[in-house]
Amino acid sequence: MTQTYDLAVVGGGILGLAHAYVAAREGLKVVLIERDGAASGASIRNFGFITVTGQERGTSWQLARRTRDIWADLAPRAAIPVEHEGLYLTARSPEAIAVIEAFLKTEMGEGCSLMDAAAFRAASGGMGGTDLLGALHSPHEIRVESRFAIPRITAFLAEQMGVTVMTKTAVHEIAPPRLATSRGVVEAGQVVVCPGDDFSTLYPERIAAYGLTRCRLSMLRLAAPGRVRLPGAIMSDLGLVRYRGYGALPEARALEARLRAEVPRLFDNGVHLIVAQGTDGSLIVGDSHHYADVPPPFAPASAEEDILQEYATALGGPVPPVIERWTGTYAVAADRTFLIDTPAENVRLVIVTSGTGASTGFGIAEKVLADLAGLHVGVTA
Ligand SMILES: Cc1cc2nc3c(=O)[nH]c(=O)nc-3n(C[C@H](O)[C@H](O)[C@H](O)COP(=O)(O)OP(=O)(O)OC[C@H]3O[C@@H](n4cnc5c(N)ncnc54)[C@H](O)[C@@H]3O)c2cc1C
Repeated sequence: MTQTYDLAVVGGGILGLAHAYVAAREGLKVVLIERDGAASGASIRNFGFITVTGQERGTSWQLARRTRDIWADLAPRAAIPVEHEGLYLTARSPEAIAVIEAFLKTEMGEGCSLMDAAAFRAASGGMGGTDLLGALHSPHEIRVESRFAIPRITAFLAEQMGVTVMTKTAVHEIAPPRLATSRGVVEAGQVVVCPGDDFSTLYPERIAAYGLTRCRLSMLRLAAPGRVRLPGAIMSDLGLVRYRGYGALPEARALEARLRAEVPRLFDNGVHLIVAQGTDGSLIVGDSHHYADVPPPFAPASAEEDILQEYATALGGPVPPVIERWTGTYAVAADRTFLIDTPAENVRLVIVTSGTGASTGFGIAEKVLADLAGLHVGVTA
């Protein structure tokens, strides 16, 4: 017995959830199909850091602004706590300050400011390394606990948005209106495929044409640092080189040269620092970046040492004990932050290729569905 839907979404990570949410919000009859019992890929392994400031200038930055607004609206309705608002990015060299000053002069700097070291220490309960010069403050970010938020959005879609959620169901073949799955045929007029970094199950030739690879990241949870409550997510100046919204500015070259000379191993392990705090006070800290078509599951101990060293340098004080470790992977392209492909009529293949899916996913979903389903939603970028 088949059921007919307006839209089938393949993949229960944040990209799939975003498409299902936007489509259901606009009145479509939606089925969301996830291979596993629950999504357990990049979407639950990330920081839950919905970043605006630092996204690539232009389309990605605009999609991130839109995505942040949708998260802010959806989170309370889905009973998801927003655990942080805002970003503090520490600077410990004149070159880092120069990048921040240049960033503040762009349209992306709207609402952001440069704090001096004393103001950052006061805001962060005394954190900050001995060589801290100042910090960029952005009010635009929000942060959720992804391992909680992703199941909550899934339940919210099923219970309050009328979305049919099929788990433990792998989609093998798509020819609208029929999808062949491990649990029989599903019928849907249109299909969006959000496979994350599964490049081989659906449309492998289409995906191969984009020359994608994968990135593996190491992540840590540290015990709560006493009673300190962070005022927002914190990054170090390595982020000024890595994140394209800052890193593409000409001023970032001098900073990069300085950091490469000072901390070459951190570049070898692709380390940059993000620190976010959970409601229990514990800190999610990362991350490292290693690239390979098939990333080995064996993360070097040096990556963890480098992350903890960067934590100590940027934030000072003792480093709390590590209480949890994990890795995650995501899709990467050299030439784009996301891809939207049309492998067949009434089908779209959507992959975020820059490790920013939590930050841009809802905006991308509106863009895809405006085109595929003719919905009047989203930014015009
Ligand atoms: C450690 C780490 C930290 C990160 N930090 C951040 C961050 O702070 N902010 C940010 O914006 N981004 C961050 N990212 C990136 C972000 O997590 C990803 O861009 C995003 O989760 C990708 O979502 P997705 O839904 O496309 O993929 P996934 O989360 O991988 O989900 C894809 C889903 O599709 C399912 N699937 C695939 N094929 C099929 C099939 N044939 N049939 C049925 N189901 C199928 C899979 O089972 C999987 O559940 C981070 C990533 C990692 C790994």
